[in-house]
Amino acid sequence: MSETLEKLRAEIETINYAVLELLSRRAGLVTRIHDLKSAAGMPAFVPEREQRMLEELVRRNRGPFPDQTIRHLFKEIFQASVALQDAEAGRVLKTSRARQSGDLRIQIGDAVIGGAPVVVAGPCSVESEEQIESAAAFVASLGLRFLRGGAFKPRSSPYSFQGLGPLGLELLGRAARRHGLCAVTEVVDPRHVDLVCQHAHVLQVGARNMYNYELLREVGRTRTPVLLKRGLSATVDELLWSAEYVVLEGNEQVILCERGIRTYETQTRNTLDVSAVALLRQRTFLPVVVDVSHAAGRRDILAPLGRAALAAGAQGLMVEVHPCPAVARSDAEQQLDYAEFERFLEEVGLRRPAHGADQPWSAPEIEAPLRQASAG
Ligand code: PEP
Ligand code: MN
Repeated sequence: MSETLEKLRAEIETINYAVLELLSRRAGLVTRIHDLKSAAGMPAFVPEREQRMLEELVRRNRGPFPDQTIRHLFKEIFQASVALQDAEAGRVLKTSRARQSGDLRIQIGDAVIGGAPVVVAGPCSVESEEQIESAAAFVASLGLRFLRGGAFKPRSSPYSFQGLGPLGLELLGRAARRHGLCAVTEVVDPRHVDLVCQHAHVLQVGARNMYNYELLREVGRTRTPVLLKRGLSATVDELLWSAEYVVLEGNEQVILCERGIRTYETQTRNTLDVSAVALLRQRTFLPVVVDVSHAAGRRDILAPLGRAALAAGAQGLMVEVHPCPAVARSDAEQQLDYAEFERFLEEVGLRRPAHGADQPWSAPEIEAPLRQASAG
């Protein structure tokens, strides 16, 4: 009796191994079919074909398993094959460190993002010619290269100041050029991308638009670097997927920006997610910067947040600076005045010797907002 049992058990095991081998062979065929189909631009998954295969299997079923069980078992096998294709199509993101170990350095004129830490400073919004001119002169006098200023402001309330729009772009671009700075400004609408490209060196996609895939595709069709902010409650994966939308259109110059996420804490406007900085630096070769102003929503803890960001690997900091924060038309409570900003630079260790007026920066050329010939 025990001899028979042993024999039967051994036979079962032999069958298991044969089934395993057949499953592996099947997977190999599925992969080859998938490659042929993707080369021919055919859809990977055809539900009608799966349905036909299931019907034929049931028709051939002579028991002992009921048809329902056969259907269930083969459905599992089919699904495992689809999952295998998904895994093999890699979903290794184009911006993954697995593809390129070195950091991407984005060159804009003679300024670089992705190497030594840079500072992007300027007012929350462009409010007037005098205001942005003053901020540009101040930022340049500190030897910094990046001037921020919103012309299109995505405000939580429709009654809040919405920005000066095209005039704001013009004023920002002019002030930046005059002082040899790179202009960084937000674009909120796919229809404005060309216009913003004519005035800015870096297109900012704001937190509220991180999931705006049409906007991401549109900035991806330009050759202007993109500063992509993390959504208010976006995961690290979601931020990387959003960057992928831009890169897939051909624009590989994407800078990721951690700007705080929503949590239950009310003492800060958002919670600066330092882990995200470390994770992003580990997972992608794209430059990572941190906007401490929107993370904190207050001005008194920006320096420690900046230090934490740099310690975690951030390659730049964004800070809101205004000639007179008390009268700012947006984010008055978080913008630094000039003296506070100089102290901030000291405290985060990014204060450089003042840039000599005898050796002014020259404004980098703005890339022509030409679209690469797209497939369509
Ligand atoms: C901004 O930087 O001007 C801004 C609106 O920030 P966020 O999109 O991160 O809220
Ligand atoms: Mn702001």
